[in-house]
Amino acid sequence: MKVIDVLNNSKQPFFTIELLPPLKGKNIESLYSILDPLMEFKPPFINVTYHSSEYIYKERENGLIEKVSIRKRPGTVGICVSIMHRYKVDAVAHLICGGFTKNETEDALIDLHYLGVKNILILRGDPPVNEKEFNPEINGHSYSIDLLKQITNLNKGIYLEDDIKDGFSTDFCTGVAGYPEKHFEAPNLSADLNNLKNKVDAGSDYCVTQMFFSNKKYFDFVESCRKKGINIPIIPGLKPITLKKQVTKLPSTFHVDIPEDLFNAIDKCKDDAEATKIGIEWTINQGRELLKAGVPCLHFFTMSNPKPIIEIVKALF
Ligand SMILES: Cc1cc2nc3c(=O)[nH]c(=O)nc-3n(C[C@H](O)[C@H](O)[C@H](O)COP(=O)(O)OP(=O)(O)OC[C@H]3O[C@@H](n4cnc5c(N)ncnc54)[C@H](O)[C@@H]3O)c2cc1C
Repeated sequence: MKVIDVLNNSKQPFFTIELLPPLKGKNIESLYSILDPLMEFKPPFINVTYHSSEYIYKERENGLIEKVSIRKRPGTVGICVSIMHRYKVDAVAHLICGGFTKNETEDALIDLHYLGVKNILILRGDPPVNEKEFNPEINGHSYSIDLLKQITNLNKGIYLEDDIKDGFSTDFCTGVAGYPEKHFEAPNLSADLNNLKNKVDAGSDYCVTQMFFSNKKYFDFVESCRKKGINIPIIPGLKPITLKKQVTKLPSTFHVDIPEDLFNAIDKCKDDAEATKIGIEWTINQGRELLKAGVPCLHFFTMSNPKPIIEIVKALF
């Protein structure tokens, strides 16, 4: 199934979960142990994130320092297919611009098509850790809209090599990211909304938002989107706080605000267990209000920790 078909046809609101591939060296069983308890609640889709390579510095035997490129969490495509096979649900593969040339992207899309993965969440990717700005590969995409256009072209049978005539057409359902609190590089919310509108005009089927902790930000964002003529479904992204330090870490990593009430409540907690309780309650309240307002779906960022999501899902669905 395609995400957009489920969004359009589901009579009940549903939820999706986003998983990280295991760290290199761990087996896929570690991911199944996260997913198994969540699958009892029958999410129709599982999103699997894509992680670009990053540079680390390693000391050689002779004392010289070597800069090495490593991918800490490989395996997105393999994991998607394993999930589809094991749980008989659809997977949404995240695909990023970073680290890919357009030709490598085309080959990856052909692989995804052959493997039966129909859903792609299209992202630019963040700059690698220790680097200030995003730099595309030579002959790669600079922005997610360019990757989206490549996919919509392939959906029409248009390949990079124009001597391929009558090539088969893929049939990908495409989602993109949206930012209720603005993407951190955008000069203002209006410019960022123009970017989202361009992605919609280029064929995106739906949008998933960055996490937010105040529903007002989401409701205002949706209202501004609708005013701009962005009429695709906008799926709210939610993340329960589970560690005390996240009240400072999440804003610096994801450029999101923590409301004063939530910050104060977490600040008073004596340990992470107390913070988790508050975080779960907060997300349940957010979820209740969003569902009451008629959102078709909630998207949970699990960050490889299923327990809080299970409690939230039990309370909401
Ligand atoms: C739900 C969700 C899931 C995610 N999953 C992953 C993942 O799996 N892997 C990963 O690496 N990252 C992931 N991310 C993070 C994402 O890659 C980053 O937020 C990234 O910095 C931006 O990606 P984007 O697709 O929104 O970028 P874009 O849409 O390309 O926008 C990036 C910035 O460029 C601006 N812009 C766009 N077009 C132009 C233009 N033509 N000229 C000037 N400025 C322009 C935009 O306003 C924005 O500020 C995810 C984010 C979300 C919300």
